[in-house]
Amino acid sequence: MEDNSSQPSEIEQLTLALLHSRGEVERLREREQLVSNLLGSINVVFWAMDWEQQKVVYVSPAYETVFGRSPALLMASFDEWRNSIYPDDMEFAAQSLTSVIELGAVEQREYRIIRADGEIRWLSDKCFVSPRGGADGTPLVVGIAEDITEKKALQSELHRLATIDVLTGVNNRRHFFDQAATLFDEARSSARPLTFMLLDIDDFKKINDSYGHQIGDRVLQRVAHCGAYVLRRDDLFGRIGGEEFAAIFPGCDAQQALQVAERLQREVQRLQFTVDEQTFGVTISQGLTSLAPGDDLDDLYIRADEAMYRAKHNGKNCIVLG
Ligand code: GH3
Ligand code: MG
Ligand code: MG
Repeated sequence: MEDNSSQPSEIEQLTLALLHSRGEVERLREREQLVSNLLGSINVVFWAMDWEQQKVVYVSPAYETVFGRSPALLMASFDEWRNSIYPDDMEFAAQSLTSVIELGAVEQREYRIIRADGEIRWLSDKCFVSPRGGADGTPLVVGIAEDITEKKALQSELHRLATIDVLTGVNNRRHFFDQAATLFDEARSSARPLTFMLLDIDDFKKINDSYGHQIGDRVLQRVAHCGAYVLRRDDLFGRIGGEEFAAIFPGCDAQQALQVAERLQREVQRLQFTVDEQTFGVTISQGLTSLAPGDDLDDLYIRADEAMYRAKHNGKNCIVLG
């Protein structure tokens, strides 16, 4: 006799399977909710794109926060991605995305986007090819985009602090000489002329002693402004000491540089400072020297310094060619 009591009937088996799959569905739904919550709580955009179809197939919830745009629009048309790129960075962003197909991965992509509200933000967007990423086995390009605007701002502030003299806003000593070395090498290799200038404010100690350090600082700022104003775009200017400034005139021989130096001399002579109804002016001494065969940068510096001290010796407020 057949004993069916320990074997579940077909109906029972189906019921069990149904209950099991309901539990699975429930678990999957919970998992999906958890992943969605996690992706929504971090400010990083995960995205996936069907390269062949040129279609974004997935974008995580942070897209809306970072891009300030609708994910639905992006999924509907790839043009929405193009619209979000800052025009100057479009070529780079598109090219670097194309190169992921050849390279398999692109780590260093930084470009700007324009949010729907017009705000410009910096993104770091790493991407790589996921060979069988799509449901039907098509390759996907997947990426992680992160808003690095604050990091960029911090980097540029650090760069500014490292290169700019805080009091006057012109290049600081270190940056001036770094740049000077580059200009010097370029002049050497192209056999083009180059002139070096040193400038020292006359009787600056007296200004500090008579009117105070703060007024002295203002004099430094105004002299620096004159330098930045008179020099041409390709010239280099910087504050290299307390009341000493320097300039490099690439492509200029001594006579051409002298014309700029004379203009600077006149601009500084025109400055007027008023303290407690007392008005005073300021003068500068300059030493100029041009690149000669066999010179290194130190030779130029030493010759310009000697010329500048001869200018002091000659009664100040003048320019000497060395
Ligand atoms: P000379 O005409 O021969 O160049 O004489 P000088 O008085 O200009 O030169 P000296 O080297 O004797 O004095 C420079 C002064 O510059 C001394 C120093 O206290 C002052 N100084 C240096 N850095 C600063 C600064 O950042 N602010 C102010 N206010 N003064 C400074
Ligand atoms: Mg000095
Ligand atoms: Mg001085």
